[in-house]
Amino acid sequence: MPELPEVEAFGKYFDKTSLNKKIENVEVKNPEILQNIDADDLKEKLEGQKFQFTKRYGKNLFAHLNNDFWLILHFGMTGKLKYFQKKDEGPSYDRILINFEDNGALAFVDPRKFGKVNLTDNMENFIKEKKLGHDALEVDLKTFKELLEKRKGAIKTVLMNQHVLAGVGNIYSDEILFQTCIHPKTGTNKLKEDKIEDIFNIMESVLKTAIDRNIKHRSLPNSFIIPHRVKNGRCPNSDVKLKTIKVSGRTAYYCPECQKELF
Ligand SMILES: [Zn+2]
Repeated sequence: MPELPEVEAFGKYFDKTSLNKKIENVEVKNPEILQNIDADDLKEKLEGQKFQFTKRYGKNLFAHLNNDFWLILHFGMTGKLKYFQKKDEGPSYDRILINFEDNGALAFVDPRKFGKVNLTDNMENFIKEKKLGHDALEVDLKTFKELLEKRKGAIKTVLMNQHVLAGVGNIYSDEILFQTCIHPKTGTNKLKEDKIEDIFNIMESVLKTAIDRNIKHRSLPNSFIIPHRVKNGRCPNSDVKLKTIKVSGRTAYYCPECQKELF
């Protein structure tokens, strides 16, 4: 599932392929992924316009149009972007196709259709309406501490809660907790202040490393848990077999040796 680093990479891809080109027409192949707009309205707002720049917030990618609207892409479980030349065969599972005047086309590809597409003329209002928390790379330490100190739930649940912190999901919360040696079910209010600071610092370094590697199509360091998050995967530190546990309906991977339960 695309989380903050993957969406950041999609933004770079969008910038590289799809800015400053006149949109000739838009094909909405699966209108059910449209959230706050219908297909005709989306076509009307996009056709004849150009995308000027993109911004990422949490797991959302905002693409600004020269009529001051923003197209907002949320990639759900399996969403991604594919740019191609119209003369070539397009990708499968293209839910929305944006055809440019220059013979290129950008497809919003999403096999499982959990992605969402919105349009807004006010990015801040959209973020407020969706009750999105602070972006995980923009939040400062003081705010981060305040956000966590009010929470009683499992730390993994809190990190994944988009209303608290936007951008971190199942995979990267596993990584952050692995690198801070915290069991995913640890009650957030049981964590001491220095542990919260650890989480904050590791979160930033994990997300930045992942952004760097995603954009360069390189895999993550072997010392991360993510490359070992597979059946029979072993901890890169202790060589102990990783365990899985359900937290908020998601499967967490953790090392029972390095991430002891606190309770
Ligand atoms: Zn270990």
